[in-house]
Amino acid sequence: MRGRSDHPAVRALAVERDPTTAPAAPGGPTACPLDCPDTCELAVDVRKGRISAIRAAGNGDGGFICGKVAGFARRQYHDDRIRHPLRRTGSRGGSFERIGWDDAIELIVDRFETIRRESGGEAILPFHYGGSNGLLTDGSMDRAFFARLGASRLLKTVCAVPTTEVATGMYGRMPGVAFEDVPRAKSIVIWGANPRASSIHLIPRLRAARERGAFIAAIDPRKNFSDREIDLHLPVLPGTDLPLALGLIRWWCEHDCIDRAFVDRHTRDVDILIAAAMTWPMDRVAAVTGVPVNALVTLAERFAAATPALIRCGWGPERNRNGGQAIAAILAIPALLGKFGVRGGGYLMSNGGGTRVRPSPAVTGRPWETRTINMSSLGSVLTDPPDPPVRALFVYNANPVATLPDQRRVLEGLAREDLFVVVHDQVMTDTAALADVVLPATTFLEHDDLRVSYGRYVFGRVRPVVEAEGEARSNAWVFASLARALGWDEEPFTWSPSEFVQHVVNGVTLGGTRVHAEVMGRGGVQAYDFAGATPVQFVTVQPRTPDGFVHLAPEVLGPNPYEFLPSSPDLPLAMISPASSRLVSSTFGESNLRRLVVDIHPTDAVPRGIGDAQPVWVFNAQGEVHCHARVTPRVRPGVVSMPKGAWRRSSGNGLTATALCPAHLNVVGGAACYNDARVDVRPA
Ligand code: SF4
Repeated sequence: MRGRSDHPAVRALAVERDPTTAPAAPGGPTACPLDCPDTCELAVDVRKGRISAIRAAGNGDGGFICGKVAGFARRQYHDDRIRHPLRRTGSRGGSFERIGWDDAIELIVDRFETIRRESGGEAILPFHYGGSNGLLTDGSMDRAFFARLGASRLLKTVCAVPTTEVATGMYGRMPGVAFEDVPRAKSIVIWGANPRASSIHLIPRLRAARERGAFIAAIDPRKNFSDREIDLHLPVLPGTDLPLALGLIRWWCEHDCIDRAFVDRHTRDVDILIAAAMTWPMDRVAAVTGVPVNALVTLAERFAAATPALIRCGWGPERNRNGGQAIAAILAIPALLGKFGVRGGGYLMSNGGGTRVRPSPAVTGRPWETRTINMSSLGSVLTDPPDPPVRALFVYNANPVATLPDQRRVLEGLAREDLFVVVHDQVMTDTAALADVVLPATTFLEHDDLRVSYGRYVFGRVRPVVEAEGEARSNAWVFASLARALGWDEEPFTWSPSEFVQHVVNGVTLGGTRVHAEVMGRGGVQAYDFAGATPVQFVTVQPRTPDGFVHLAPEVLGPNPYEFLPSSPDLPLAMISPASSRLVSSTFGESNLRRLVVDIHPTDAVPRGIGDAQPVWVFNAQGEVHCHARVTPRVRPGVVSMPKGAWRRSSGNGLTATALCPAHLNVVGGAACYNDARVDVRPA
């Protein structure tokens, strides 16, 4: 190991405080950056330097927030909180010893330099996800560091890739219907989304729409709403949203519901879509999806007849090998039926396209053309190494053990003794426990960030409201420090924290307006201006495709758009792993989900001799998960449901839902196919 004095920057770090984590004043307003479409403005009470309460700021968006963030202090002060840098002392997954930041930086820099010299920069892989991060903590200082290092690039494919690629190919990410306009809709389809788990601020708006007489339908293998809340539940079999959407389109064609004038004027390739739809008569759709014909026809009639009519498309339909095609068929519906052009009508999916972010060239300007590695294939990349093999993994903003498909293989890969693993995280996650070096990360209550909402039309200014616990540091600080320890005395690694924030915020426009200095100073959220009211699709906002048309068979669907690829029925039950109201992806797994439960319908439980709360094994050829059954009609027959993001400690054998999820990838974007898992269940 090189002597510490060779790294003057390292010596300086030992005494230098992370200035991005210094609260200007304790408590006050900030914004929630967690992976949720709502981006709430928060009021944080601080007493004697500790958080005493977190609530909605003022009456902003209903004046309430979710219980997860209201209880964030549990994570902030949890026993599992990482407060100091740690180094592994024994076998992997065993014990750690406390070290200083200077030792940690030196250790990482030395290993990176050795690996780069022996195998090239591509043998180092940054592993991260930005779901709960903003513009300062994802894709900025980290990107500049790994690009300069020549590391492999990571394809982030566990969520929202098919939806984003399809929405871009079809509409150029045209902004969607605003939350505020949902109550105006007369017919609403909630397709593969559960606002009770994520985006709770849609719930009162759906209630308001219903009080005004709206027809509301939900398409989901789980029943997330009561009969009083919605009119129709269509319990679709996972992976069959594509035939369901195509069957509806065929019905609308046959019943003269297509808005020919709109289609001719605004779309391309309608013939390809219609030809695919015509192969799906309702009785075939019913047989494949498990949704009765009368429910399909009711939905078709009630949606076609209403104006405004709105589809709230979630991320459930994308998590199978047909996911991209399914999303394309769903997003085509408002165009085919001419549902745009009226406030509250059209679609609502991700509204992040309303923000324009022009990154600073100092942050993202450096060319980075190394090989790419798909994060969904990490297990096979680590166990069946490419050339050069991945010899170092730097994990931040992520917990791959809990979230990636094929969990057993991920664990096998992380067990490699020749793999150098660094994890920067807030708490001792399942991944951090397997690291060589663990670095303490700040929470969003301890650092600066800038959050682009992907649901509400607001921009979040996240600012520190308490001092960082122990020696926790933001990832921007960590990457700037590593860079300086490598002798890279250049922008952006030399920026002061305020210069960093300013450079990034300079490139942001919100539906045409800049971020207000007052919001930047005080923290909280800024609503978009849009030069007036919220957007109306095809009136105030238009498709942003290069030619301005809606592309109904976008190139991203590949050579066989709308081809249905059924899942292999080798086992009798389909397994989904949706978001739950207790976790945000895997965040809060240290405290909020202690016992792993699989939901199973009585029709499937009784013949297997499974009773409520009974210990069971859920299994397939990839592995088995030991958990407890919850026998409930909330999940449809033929489907079981286990929560997304559960930690290993919640399970009886240290494996969770992802251990049963297949390794194959979506046709669109190479995304993970969690909902293609097929399993069986037996009493333990
Ligand atoms: S997770 Fe969502 S609902 Fe909860 S506080 Fe954050 S933005 Fe609001």
